[in-house]
Amino acid sequence: MNFDIDPADVAFREEVRAFLRESLPADIAERNKRGFHFLRDDMREWTKILNRKGWSGPNWPSEWGGPGWSPVRQFIFEDECFMAGAPWIDTAGFKMIGPVIMSFGSEEMKREFGPRILNGDVFWGQGFSEPNAGSDLGSLTTRAVREGDEYVINGRKIWTSYVESADVIFMLVKTDPEAKQRGISMLLVDKNAPGITIRPIIDIGEGYSLNEVFFDDVRTPVKYLVGEEGKGWSYAKHLLDLERAFSAEWPRNKRNLEQLRAMAGRARAGGERLIDSPGFAARLAQLDVDLQALEWLTLRALYERKGGNTLPVGSLLKVRGSELLQKIGEMQVEALGDYGAYFYDDPHATPAGDMNWPPGPDYAPGVVADYMYRRATTVYGGANEVQRTIIARSFLEL
Ligand SMILES: Cc1cc2nc3c(=O)[nH]c(=O)nc-3n(C[C@H](O)[C@H](O)[C@H](O)COP(=O)(O)OP(=O)(O)OC[C@H]3O[C@@H](n4cnc5c(N)ncnc54)[C@H](O)[C@@H]3O)c2cc1C
Repeated sequence: MNFDIDPADVAFREEVRAFLRESLPADIAERNKRGFHFLRDDMREWTKILNRKGWSGPNWPSEWGGPGWSPVRQFIFEDECFMAGAPWIDTAGFKMIGPVIMSFGSEEMKREFGPRILNGDVFWGQGFSEPNAGSDLGSLTTRAVREGDEYVINGRKIWTSYVESADVIFMLVKTDPEAKQRGISMLLVDKNAPGITIRPIIDIGEGYSLNEVFFDDVRTPVKYLVGEEGKGWSYAKHLLDLERAFSAEWPRNKRNLEQLRAMAGRARAGGERLIDSPGFAARLAQLDVDLQALEWLTLRALYERKGGNTLPVGSLLKVRGSELLQKIGEMQVEALGDYGAYFYDDPHATPAGDMNWPPGPDYAPGVVADYMYRRATTVYGGANEVQRTIIARSFLEL
């Protein structure tokens, strides 16, 4: 087997690097490299820059208006963007609801949302989980009743990430309360529609991206039903497998590991370097091996999906990637030493134009807050215990 990368793909990597040097705004890159949360304005600006180049939607085929890249090129592009400090493009739009709309939505829906997603003009919230329906999503109770050419929605969603700054919520509702999964439909709802109340939830790292959302007689037009009534469960399964695949977070794992190596290479009190400790170095080497395995697994998954394989590779990637992210985070906090005790409590802070950064080494901000937030990676996108059952059922036919 030949593991060499095609020279054309090597040239593509250089092209991406040159583009990033030229087009990625320095202040945006600086903020992201310092560990602060992505700002919506940064994401919007960056998506528009990409769209002008025809590179928005790296995972979108050309018939949807994307660049139509091979899996290897998508992988290279995301790797380079993340390492350069580019913000995410909206994953909920590009990697979750976008592909579902383009695959199952009406022509009108595709025309309305496809170009807006590509240009960063619409942001999304994912309204799936409810207080009593997370792993067991089939027991959701939020109800939608059809009245003429509208649905009227009543119920409550929780953990709805970034909905506070979203424009549209894609949500699962019960259109037939008697049927379990076959009674579920997927609807798009204007986040600012009358009857929606958003209650913030502050996370353990003092960050704000989570919400509880209440729906009281909220109306959405029937044209915002995705696909067919009662088929929401199968669209959701498709969407969740896409979500889990990117939960592997290969680029974030790579960047965090590089950051960890740099931190461990700095002298600490007493002049010692953590990287010279045989115990620490051996653990670091193991993380390197795990990262390489994740890289190959991610590439394999991209090709399997392209080849139409329906095995739940997203579940495999999710388990591996989320656990690696947590292990790297634990060692980062260890490597921070005393600076781990200073809590950089607001990962949303936007330093002023003069870049007034907090005290400590430049790699310290955000590390502890991110470590705390990432306790949730083995839960969001579907708990890892549940993913292991899916893997066992599909791959091992248990
Ligand atoms: C940071 C964060 C962001 C999120 N963002 C969103 C979002 O934007 N939109 C959205 O809709 N949801 C979101 N979620 C919700 C997430 O999808 C759910 O938390 C997840 O599916 C687990 O559901 P639950 O919290 O109800 O836990 P439960 O279903 O109550 O599970 C709790 C634990 O019980 C165990 N467990 C449960 N069922 C099984 C089983 N069948 N087999 C073995 N073990 C089991 C697992 O250990 C699991 O972790 C987010 C969650 C977090 C933490």
